[in-house]
Amino acid sequence: MNTTTIYKGFTLIDGTGSEPIKDSYMMVKDDKIIKIGKTSNLTNNSNYKTVDLSGKFVMPGLINSHVHITMEPVGNPFAVLSNESDAMTSLRGAANLKKTLNSGTTFFRDLGGPDGIDIDLRNAVNKKIIEGPEFLASGKVICMTGGHGWMSGREADGPVETRKAAREQLKAGADVIKVMATGGVMTEGVEPGSPQFTTEEMTTAIEEAHKAGKKTATHAQGTTGIKNAINAGIDSIEHGFYLDDEIFHMMKEKGVFLVATLVAPYFIVKNGKDGGIPEYAVKKATNTMEAHKESFKKAYKAGVKIAMGTDSGTPYNFHGSAPHEVKLMIEYGMKPMDALVASTKGSAECLGIDSNYGTIEKDKFADFLVLDKNPIENIETLFNIDSIYKLGKKV
Ligand SMILES: [Zn+2]
Repeated sequence: MNTTTIYKGFTLIDGTGSEPIKDSYMMVKDDKIIKIGKTSNLTNNSNYKTVDLSGKFVMPGLINSHVHITMEPVGNPFAVLSNESDAMTSLRGAANLKKTLNSGTTFFRDLGGPDGIDIDLRNAVNKKIIEGPEFLASGKVICMTGGHGWMSGREADGPVETRKAAREQLKAGADVIKVMATGGVMTEGVEPGSPQFTTEEMTTAIEEAHKAGKKTATHAQGTTGIKNAINAGIDSIEHGFYLDDEIFHMMKEKGVFLVATLVAPYFIVKNGKDGGIPEYAVKKATNTMEAHKESFKKAYKAGVKIAMGTDSGTPYNFHGSAPHEVKLMIEYGMKPMDALVASTKGSAECLGIDSNYGTIEKDKFADFLVLDKNPIENIETLFNIDSIYKLGKKV
C-alpha cells in the first residue's frame, strides 16, 4: 500500500524562526516528513496522493511543556481528584488527551498526577489503545513533607529520601523528574515565595534523573528556591514568578529553560472565588500576577531560553489552552515569531525531543497544523485550526 502523501501550495512556517516560505510542498511517508521544497519544483508525482493546501499556512504542532492531564480544570481540582477512584481519573485523563490534541497540541509533558496514572495513559497512547498526543510523564511530583503538591505527590525529606523518591519514579517509568523548589498557589498553607526543598535535596534527585538520561523540571516561584534549583542542576524553571538579574545570568550560563505558564494565574484571577476557586489560591494568584508578568518580560529581554507551557488542569485552565498561552506570551512582549518558536522548537528542546519533533524538517515526525491565516500576523487563527496532523494522520 502506498502511504506517501504530498501536501502542496502552502506557506511554510517551519518552527526554526526563519522567514515563512511561500508555495511550499512537503512529502510525508507514513509518520515522517521525507522531503520539503517549492511546489514549483515538484516533478510529476501522480502516483502519490496529493493534498492541495493553496492559500493555507503550515506550522509544527504545538508542544506544551507543562500539563496535568489527570486534573479537571474546575474551581478546586484537588477536591475532584481526592474524591474519585483511579479508574475515573484515568477515564478523565483519556478524555483530556482528546481535548488537548483537538486544539493543536501534538506533544506535551505531564508534570504531575496521582498514582502513576499519567504513566499508564502515556503507555496507552503509545500502544494506540487511546487517541491523544504523545507525551512525557513525570509520575508523582517529589515534594517535602507538607510541601506544594503533597496531596498527590511523593513526600520526601533529606537528600537520601529525595534520591530514593526519584529512583521510585524512574522505576515506575517516569520520563522526567519534577521537584518542588518553592511553595505554590494551589496548596493551602504554603507560600509561592518560600523555598521548600534545599539545594542538597534537589541535587540528589536531579543526579538520579540525569544518570538515567532524563530531564528535570521544578515548580519554582520564589527567588531563593529558583536559585537553589539552578544550583542543584535543574533543566527547567516552571512558573518563575520572582526572577532577578542574577537568575537570568545563571539560567543563560547553564542553558536552563523558563516555562512561565502565564495562563495559570490569569484564569485563577479571572474566575476568582465566584468560580469556586479556594480563597487562598485566588489571593496568592492575585498577589503574584504582576511580578510574574514582569519577570517573564525581563527574562525574554535578557535572552533566557523560553518554552511554552500552560499548567492545564489548574482552575479554569482547560485542556487545550496552549493558544491562550501563546497569545499571552505575545501580549507580554514576545515577538509573534519568537512565541511560535518557543511553542514548537523551544518546547521540543526543553523536553529533549528536538531530534524528532518541534520543527517541519526532513526526517522529523509529521506533526503539523494547517491554518487559514498567517499566525505571525493573526495569532487568533490558532483558536480555529483548519486541520491537525499527528504522526502523518489527520486528526
Ligand atoms: Zn503544574
